Amino acid sequence: MSHPVPTPAPPTQAPAAIKLSGVSVAFEGQEVLKGVDLEVQKGEFVAIIGPSGGGKSTLLRVVAGLLKAKQGTVEVLGRPAMVFQDYRLLPWRTVEQNIRLPIELTGRGKIETYLGMKPYRHLYPHQLSGGMKARVAIARALAQDAEVLLMDEPFAALDALVRERFNLELKQLHERTGKTILFVTHSIREAVYLADRVVVLTGGKIDAILDTKHEGRITAFTDGLEAELRERLGVADSTLIEPPPKPLRPPWEVFGVLGLAGLLLLSWTWLSDRIPLFFPSPFAVWQAAVQNAPQLAQSALATLEVAALGVLCALLIGMPVGYWMGRSRIVERLLSPFIVALQAIPTVIVAPLLVIWFGFSLEAKLITTTLISIFPVMVSTMVGVREVDRIYREVFQTIGSSAWGVFAKLEVPGALPVVLGGLRLTVSLALIGAVVADFTFQGEGLGAFANTERLSFRYANAFAAVGVNVVLGIVLYGLVAWLESYVLRYRRR
Ligand code: ADP
Ligand code: MG
Repeated sequence: MSHPVPTPAPPTQAPAAIKLSGVSVAFEGQEVLKGVDLEVQKGEFVAIIGPSGGGKSTLLRVVAGLLKAKQGTVEVLGRPAMVFQDYRLLPWRTVEQNIRLPIELTGRGKIETYLGMKPYRHLYPHQLSGGMKARVAIARALAQDAEVLLMDEPFAALDALVRERFNLELKQLHERTGKTILFVTHSIREAVYLADRVVVLTGGKIDAILDTKHEGRITAFTDGLEAELRERLGVADSTLIEPPPKPLRPPWEVFGVLGLAGLLLLSWTWLSDRIPLFFPSPFAVWQAAVQNAPQLAQSALATLEVAALGVLCALLIGMPVGYWMGRSRIVERLLSPFIVALQAIPTVIVAPLLVIWFGFSLEAKLITTTLISIFPVMVSTMVGVREVDRIYREVFQTIGSSAWGVFAKLEVPGALPVVLGGLRLTVSLALIGAVVADFTFQGEGLGAFANTERLSFRYANAFAAVGVNVVLGIVLYGLVAWLESYVLRYRRR
């Protein structure tokens, strides 16, 4: 096979920024890279083109250190920064926080440029257009202060005009910063226009390396009439995705809830008329609540205290165990049977035993409450940690984050949505736990109050205590829901 352009030898005076010698990579016995030799000089812009499945991304991942070569050697000047094709911006971080990520993780580097995104630095990724996301991803890679910049089809998802604008900017950026760039693309025009040399990679082998310095053109930006049209269009890539204005509508949800509550009260009244002695009417319960208000408030506080401490215990024990299970399949297999067994223990039966072992103590109450409420904490933490996408782990890996950085800046915020979902269940269960504990251990809470009143045939009072507990449950649930919407505000659309 002959090539129209001979393979030029790279200039020898500058030191190599990337040097691959005989690099082979195989997946399940299938060779994807077959003895690739490639030298990229410091400050050079090299583009890799080739058909899909030719091994372009694999080559880039080997240089990035995300993949180990089966054979051959890979030498890179420093730790390369990577711009992934899907950008991989962390959804819970604003534009500015995303760009700042490498600086936070390594303590090195600085924000080189916002690439025009400074006015939008407080927005979250979901509020950005594709072009804007590309800007943030490139700015983040530049903030990493790496000698070598790797880019895997960074503009593939952009429309033609926006893409051409990016090409122009990237070329200028390269000239300004003098970084070494290895750039994968499908577009021949893009490759020829941008790169000093273009590598053709087919079937895992380098087919040709062409010298393309000062070659190529970008029509819409460089040619007469098209350039004029471009002028008129201005910044075409910064189409901000504005949230649509909220339509004004009656609060149907509120009407619905009130209607259902009314229906419930009516059926309650109807029923209590039929079983008058043991089933006080809503009005009687309301009267009892008003009469016993001070006592009920005191009991509610006592119940709330046990429930809150129970939630705290459940979180303190459940989250580390759940995290551990989420990180290790072996630990999960080892512990799951016991955790499921734990969940199946009927607390109402165990609680009286706890009295015998621990007496009427706070410890016994907390054990009961924690036993009842810990399950969702463990499961949600485990699922949450596991859900953290592997693609984000790669971002942290290319930046060179410590294990602590991955934990604090990826796993915790990444798992939080699921953990908070579990917390909704946990607070409700902890409240039940607190009442059961109180009931069994004759504490000062709502459970004890309800029990005493029931035994004295003052059913209205017992119902009032149940009612207060229901209100507590709704309030706690609401608090968690509010916390959730605050913490997860980055998802709001
Ligand atoms: P390109 O980026 O040039 O389109 P890739 O480097 O992504 O190609 O993939 C080259 C070949 O390797 C493809 O056939 C692809 O299916 C295979 N491949 C890539 N990554 C993996 C992997 N992690 N496991 C198995 N096969 C893979
Ligand atoms: Mg690819």
